[in-house]
Amino acid sequence: MSSFAAINKTMSDTIFSKIIRREIPADIVYEDEQAIAIKDINPQAPTHILVIPKKPIPRLSEATESDRDLLGHLLLTVQRVAEQAGLSNGYRVVINNGADGGQTVDHIHFHILGDRQMKWPPG
Ligand code: AMP
Repeated sequence: MSSFAAINKTMSDTIFSKIIRREIPADIVYEDEQAIAIKDINPQAPTHILVIPKKPIPRLSEATESDRDLLGHLLLTVQRVAEQAGLSNGYRVVINNGADGGQTVDHIHFHILGDRQMKWPPG
């Protein structure tokens, strides 16, 4: 399936698919054929950006072998977007997966958090 076909409306439609289709506004900082990056509406750090594939994979645990190239592309997109955002002193990358992981939007996404010192362990 092409990435364009994958963003057509489905049963699993989420707010991120609506943003990708420009049905609701977002602060888009990067876009290519396979992915989009937006500023998080409720930032948890001075810089908080979400990297989202156009293909609506619900969560990491539902990705398959066929998503191998896309997942690699998304990580390289994280790297590119973080560099573009000027996070030269480091940053944190987070994937929340499922209920215990704290995931609230069922469309896989990578959080990029930066411009402050992160703590460990996360809450
Ligand atoms: P998660 O809890 O890992 O599923 O992350 C979902 C993230 O999406 C949260 O950090 C929300 O603040 C963010 N979010 C929800 N709706 C929007 C929106 N319309 N525009 C930008 N970010 C959003």
